[in-house]
Amino acid sequence: MEQDPLQTEITWQGIPVSGGIAHAVAHVLKDHFDEPEVESIEPGDADGEMGRLRAALEATRMEIEDLQVMVSRAEGSVEADIFETHLLILQDASMLAQVEKRVRKDLVCVDAAYYQLMLKHMDALRGLADSYLRERFLDIKDVTQRVMRHLRGELLDEPMFDHPVILIAHDLTPSDTVQMDRTKVLGFGVESGSTTSHTAIIARSLALPAVVRLHGIGDELHSGDPVLLDGDEGKLILRPSAETLARYAVREQAAEQREDALHALRHEPAQTVDGRLVRVGVNAEFLEEIPVIQDSGAEEVGLFRTEFLHLASPGASEDWLADAYSQVVRALSPSLVTFRTLDLGGDKVDEVGMQSPEPNPFLGWRGIRLSLGHTDLFKRQLRALLRAAAHGRVGIMFPMVSGVDEVQEARDILHECAAALEAEGVPIGVPEIGAMVEVPSAALCAAQIAKDVQFLSLGTNDLTQYTLAVDRLNDRVAGLYQPSHPAVVRLIQLTVNAGRDAGIRVGICGEMASDVGLTPLLIGLGLEEFSVAAAVVPRLKHAVRRLDTSVCEALVAEVEKESSPARIANLSRAVAVKCYPDLFETGERERA
Ligand code: PEP
Ligand code: MG
Repeated sequence: MEQDPLQTEITWQGIPVSGGIAHAVAHVLKDHFDEPEVESIEPGDADGEMGRLRAALEATRMEIEDLQVMVSRAEGSVEADIFETHLLILQDASMLAQVEKRVRKDLVCVDAAYYQLMLKHMDALRGLADSYLRERFLDIKDVTQRVMRHLRGELLDEPMFDHPVILIAHDLTPSDTVQMDRTKVLGFGVESGSTTSHTAIIARSLALPAVVRLHGIGDELHSGDPVLLDGDEGKLILRPSAETLARYAVREQAAEQREDALHALRHEPAQTVDGRLVRVGVNAEFLEEIPVIQDSGAEEVGLFRTEFLHLASPGASEDWLADAYSQVVRALSPSLVTFRTLDLGGDKVDEVGMQSPEPNPFLGWRGIRLSLGHTDLFKRQLRALLRAAAHGRVGIMFPMVSGVDEVQEARDILHECAAALEAEGVPIGVPEIGAMVEVPSAALCAAQIAKDVQFLSLGTNDLTQYTLAVDRLNDRVAGLYQPSHPAVVRLIQLTVNAGRDAGIRVGICGEMASDVGLTPLLIGLGLEEFSVAAAVVPRLKHAVRRLDTSVCEALVAEVEKESSPARIANLSRAVAVKCYPDLFETGERERA
């Protein structure tokens, strides 16, 4: 009997970026701006088509009005005004008339007629120097995106689905991740992306399996298809057979047992064999991670990325922010919570139109540059952080610092905010001030920067990107993205030494810290603070407990003679496999 091709299992191989296994139905998130097919219609269909558009416009109107109420409650009416503009664009009578004319006269489907008209308006405004007009471009884009999703029968905001799903997308923007119902998503399968793309980082912090670079899945998969996602081996399996499911069930059970054993020791300190204490913290982005952080075994939050809260609630008021930050601080007190000020720009583009499209966003107006140019926004955040510091131990660090001037300017604004709040009689705390070292110039100037701060935090995701001139999101150069490159290792060494000489602490919060194969190298380089996704804490602590500083320092001496990134990674991994074989797959243990 011939096998029905629709029943056979299909496997795609991608790059695993967050471990674990998930089995559910797919939810395929269409690219919002997939150009709709220009389909012909019969004259008798025109009324139906216009009815579809009216229904989509009405659904969009309700959605925008709900958002408007939500935002004005949280941030005040000024911020909610943007939605007035959106409603005007949505309800523009001439737009409706033009679309109707096209549908009835040219007999094209309403999706294409509406999309092409809006695209014409966007094209006219795209790239204009005038910032007001540029913002109108983004407003039109936003409204068009919402209407198109309704025309396609997709919902834009939560709840996107009422059952567990594996989210399939070309790529997920931070805005997509803040808008989805995170309680229903069991994993991500993404066509593009890389290990340090924000899809991967979010997946790790939510402890969800994720696989990137699954080329072609968007065309082949449909919402509702049964899929199995293997975040350990980077596989996505469509219609997994009974044998496959049974095989995975056995694997999952063994993995669970291993994780349980590590989990049981998660609250024990991470102390090397020779007694060196290493602080293990977590990286976090969302308030709902608080219980996970509390249970993770971490000693602190080493990096709280604040831009995700911002993207979820653009234009949030100082009170709203102070309340959100204080919730984290109070829940985790007396542990230190280090907030990073807004790092918008790059791939964390602000969708509300604060930023115009940039020709080269990663080298553009991002991180501290954007905050220093938008002091109203920056002060609002700093005041909220100072108020949160009244409830526990808070660190504030500045992202994308490229030199001393930016740190001094940011610190002065922080002091100015503290003085103003004190004069207003508002209770505040005294935060520890730090700088991210993620731009090579900051690492090269770390000795000077160290004089102005109380700690440095190595952001190796960007440090690798900028040192090697390798876009961290670009598939084509992904093979060149090597945190173990001798140039990156040297910059880490330089930063650690600068911190040590200045008597301040130096930590690492980039994804490199999560790779237990590189822990021997990082310990040997003198790092004593690691910040990783909550799910990684037990593994990392286990790794540290098996290492001896002198062995790690001997490794660094070897590494200093090496010029190949792969050999440096292998040297470190060999020490790791020897000291904690249980954290590696059987094959690798045997090869070591
Ligand atoms: C980094 O660059 O290493 C970092 C931690 O920041 P992000 O990944 O948010 O850019
Ligand atoms: Mg960074």
